Amino acid sequence: MAEKTIKTIEGFVLRSSPYKESDAMMNVLSSEGLFSFLGRGVQKNTSKNFASSQLLSKAKFSLVEQKNGGYALQESEVISLPDGKSDLTRLAIFSFIAEASVKLISEEEASVIYPWLDQTMNLLKEKGKEASRALIYFCHLLGVIGYGLEVDECVVCGKKTDIIGVSFREGGFVCRDCGSASSKLTARDLKILRFCFKCGLSDALRVSFEAKESLALLKRLILYVEDFTGVKLKSLELI
Ligand SMILES: [Zn+2]
Repeated sequence: MAEKTIKTIEGFVLRSSPYKESDAMMNVLSSEGLFSFLGRGVQKNTSKNFASSQLLSKAKFSLVEQKNGGYALQESEVISLPDGKSDLTRLAIFSFIAEASVKLISEEEASVIYPWLDQTMNLLKEKGKEASRALIYFCHLLGVIGYGLEVDECVVCGKKTDIIGVSFREGGFVCRDCGSASSKLTARDLKILRFCFKCGLSDALRVSFEAKESLALLKRLILYVEDFTGVKLKSLELI
């Protein structure tokens, strides 16, 4: 007797962890929330669900309920696949986006971040702007999980002028009076950060920054979130 589909979701694979033999436990972010389910045989490249179980594949997944109450994958239909073939920069950025999302986003936040992930993956089809896209996505992710930086004024005294840098401990921009030497950033870096935290989905389409400046800021933000959440992002070493 065919199993009855009880749920169909559309979303991105954030993690596919090898499980018994060729099975994998899959974590998918969809606009309805986070889902984890068992993918039987998906590690075999002959599996009809092999492509859709790859990292950051976007697909439609039909799920069935198992005896233990969990979900298992019945069938899937690929919508898009991330193109990272033998391009280490792209693969590193894909790993980072998936890891940051799966480790930092909670169930309640999934539907808020989903449009950003969807757009970021769409924009990443164009090659050469990976770091900038990842930076904008990560800033929004930080905002969603409650770690967005105050970028409109000095986070300590509220002054809007004479901003010299960022205090990660205080959580935002600081002015000359409130900041220290270690908080200093260039005017360009401050401008980029402000844009990344403030921009809307449509603004993010038209702007990109240099890879070098984007990566430097991304790394600082990763260290900041690691310090404050205790979550380690292994992909930091790749980017
Ligand atoms: Zn101040």
